[in-house]
Amino acid sequence: MATAKGFLNPHNDPEILDYRKAEEYLKEYETRDGLSVYELMDTRKHGGLTYNDFLLLPGYIGFPASAVTLDSPITKKITLKTPFVSSPMDTVTEHEMAIHMALQGGLGVIHHNCTPEAQADMVRKVKRYENGFILDPVVISPTTTVGETKALKEKWGFGGFPVTETGKLGSKLLGIVTNRDIQFEEDLDKPVSEVMVTDLITAPAGVTLKEANKILAQSKKGKLPIVDAEGNLVSMISRSDLTKNLHFPLASKKPDSKQLLCAAAIGTRPADKDRLALLVEAGLDIVVLDSSQGNSIYQIEMIKWIKETYPHLEVIGGNVVTREQAAALIAAGVDGLRIGMGSGSACITQEVMAVGRPQATAVFQVSTFAARFGVPCIADGGIQNVGHIVKGLALGASTVMMGGLLAGTTESPGTSFVSREGKLVKAYRGMGSIDAMQDKKAAGGGKDAQKSNAGTARYFSEGDSVLVAQGVSGAVAHRGSVTKFVPYLIAGLKHSMQDCGITSLTELHQKVADGTVRFELRTASAQLEGGVNMESYEKKLYA
Ligand code: GDP
Ligand code: GDP
Ligand code: GDP
Ligand code: 5GP
Repeated sequence: MATAKGFLNPHNDPEILDYRKAEEYLKEYETRDGLSVYELMDTRKHGGLTYNDFLLLPGYIGFPASAVTLDSPITKKITLKTPFVSSPMDTVTEHEMAIHMALQGGLGVIHHNCTPEAQADMVRKVKRYENGFILDPVVISPTTTVGETKALKEKWGFGGFPVTETGKLGSKLLGIVTNRDIQFEEDLDKPVSEVMVTDLITAPAGVTLKEANKILAQSKKGKLPIVDAEGNLVSMISRSDLTKNLHFPLASKKPDSKQLLCAAAIGTRPADKDRLALLVEAGLDIVVLDSSQGNSIYQIEMIKWIKETYPHLEVIGGNVVTREQAAALIAAGVDGLRIGMGSGSACITQEVMAVGRPQATAVFQVSTFAARFGVPCIADGGIQNVGHIVKGLALGASTVMMGGLLAGTTESPGTSFVSREGKLVKAYRGMGSIDAMQDKKAAGGGKDAQKSNAGTARYFSEGDSVLVAQGVSGAVAHRGSVTKFVPYLIAGLKHSMQDCGITSLTELHQKVADGTVRFELRTASAQLEGGVNMESYEKKLYA
């Protein structure tokens, strides 16, 4: 019988060992297989690495993939159930994307390539989308007409309006008008007092949300107005919110208000302080300071000013790729950091500026440093598949930010179109592309905001210097809805963590740090081997 002896046996031991002792033998005599993260990330030996340059080695599976949890902090105070964030880019995140990312347990960062008012409106839409107690319901008076009520429905997107004596909150509740009361009413001048429902089921002020939900569920009505002892309207709850809570158990919500979490990006110009005031008024939870090189006097002063002016607002600084950059922003008081320079799929920074860092190395260097100060990090850019997500998280990031990967979904701004090659695509462009920068000037938004004439997209006509592009403009493949795509990313990430024998992201970070999770560098041919090698095939990612 052939036996595993000879030169393959490092101890030159002629004996065949007891197979039952294989694990003990391994621990006693062998060095650990693979590399620790510190060995992998030795830049003096291997240079800067990208996600494609290495793999994680498998561990021991003692649990089903469904047992893996993905809770992870995005800032010092806020934790998400799904570590996915959509980029503040005008072809990626407006309110629609922000709502759906939050419903899936992630977060959308609303872009600022628009007027401050338009951006604040988007924040408001996200915050209004789901509620516990609706504390500022749209209220009408008995003399409001059917026509006016229909217009309100058009404006707000919902059609259930409590009717009070004065038409304001805090006044005596007289009835409620819902879609059904006005849908087929042709006399638009009729006052709502003639169509409203008056035999109301209400709940008393002070009722808990749980109790109120129960009353609402039993009442079989769509809305439950909450009234004080004098019968004045104080708030309301809506049946559709119970359904939303049921359908999206992972949703990123404020624990008290049950409203979705909302983040938005701003620049670091003086005008951005006015923009931020509008966003905060609209209910913003997290502000992201959007700069490709975050370590600047402008950003540091902005962070300090925001922390002083809005102590409850969480501030994410960036972008950074070195520990020195990170240290400056951490010292200024950031609650989170965004890592990446030049790794984005629409980005040409490394080519044009010769400044940046391979993303895997950047994520590792910055997030291991920031962790010492309790500052969570976002691995931003260069995520092209589930594997890249796992790698970014394994290297210390708490969440990943995606632009190109989400730009092709139904929830990104714009509509799909058929490319010259006959493929269904959606537009995607770097925020530093000439196209995007010209639109920004036109919107009076970010760069040179004070100087720009809203409405003119003229190319630095005031004699400014040339616009230097740091990004390109193009299209990405259509991917269907985020409501299918994000669950695919979640499932993929859970399976990958299961392969590594890891049940949570905290455990992943611990076991990478203590050397339990092992890595392997990939040669160029190993990368080829890891791809598909077939004459022809169709790449279908999920079903
Ligand atoms: P959950 O039951 O796991 O959602 O636990 P929570 O602490 O989030 O919720 C406490 C109560 O609030 C429960 O009765 C939930 O049904 C209810 N709740 C949660 N989210 C919402 C929401 O968006 N709207 C309303 N009206 N109720 C909610
Ligand atoms: P409606 O029946 O036409 O009022 O609309 P739905 O019940 O389908 O949707 C109402 C949704 O809008 C719920 O998720 C509410 O939490 C949300 N919402 C936010 N603000 C208000 C408000 O002032 N009035 C009403 N009716 N809904 C609001
Ligand atoms: P990005 O780095 O291309 O993403 O864009 P930024 O808006 O961060 O920066 C563009 C340029 O403007 C950089 O040279 C910044 O250092 C500079 N900058 C950013 N904020 C301010 C500011 O408040 N005042 C001045 N004078 N320059 C700024
Ligand atoms: P992606 O997920 O497409 O690989 O990368 C998205 C990230 O690229 C964004 O979150 C942002 O940090 C970065 N980015 C967006 N536009 C530009 C650009 O024009 N130039 C550069 N250098 N980076 C960009």
